[in-house]
Amino acid sequence: MNISGIVKSSLIDYPGLICCVLFVPGCNYTCFYCHNRALVDGSHLLLSPRYVMDFLKKRAGLLDGVVISGGEPTLQSGLLPFLTILRELDYQIKLDTNGSNPNIIKELIRQGLCNYFAVDYKAPSSRYTSVCGMDSNAEKVLETLDILLDSDSTFEVRTTVLPELGAEELMAMAKELPVVPRYVLNRYRVPSTFLPEDELRVRRKAHTAEDLQFFAACVSAYQPNVVF
Ligand code: SF4
Repeated sequence: MNISGIVKSSLIDYPGLICCVLFVPGCNYTCFYCHNRALVDGSHLLLSPRYVMDFLKKRAGLLDGVVISGGEPTLQSGLLPFLTILRELDYQIKLDTNGSNPNIIKELIRQGLCNYFAVDYKAPSSRYTSVCGMDSNAEKVLETLDILLDSDSTFEVRTTVLPELGAEELMAMAKELPVVPRYVLNRYRVPSTFLPEDELRVRRKAHTAEDLQFFAACVSAYQPNVVF
């Protein structure tokens, strides 16, 4: 399991719990607004496994949970054994994923290795590749959500409300999704690094908090559990 970064303590990344956040390198998407661009190409420096494990052992019992984020954690070949170790240390485990790997999610559920899943739904299906790159695919995300709904897993779906998404696009997304237990609309922030060709797109004016309130009201007809 490759880990490139740690937030040692967080109150906001795991609903209701004090957690640390581990960031894995590498992603199969190339979202133009990615906030972890340095992680996406997988060339980011790795933390020593011993350092990570010593930290997790020392904090066991002090932190409630561990969030595995990235990059895309389901691409890591060592994910399942690593989560098994976290289980043995009695951590609650949350996985942040772009939803592109339903088979891994199915296996995590089968082995009972995850307490909470946060799955991104990033754009209307017709615009997925425009937002997330040519290797992205909304169908896989929807397959992942069907698997989660068919299990008794706790999960949320998250959408970052990009400047280019308005009420029409957000309602289309809300209709494409099955009704989910928690649908989170997150405000967009301009990333600190981005590709030169994305500058105009990245720097478009973000929607306001009032806009998000309006969007939440619009999508609530299809996603009654929307929060923002
Ligand atoms: S899925 Fe997440 S980590 Fe991957 S490119 Fe998109 S925003 Fe970045």
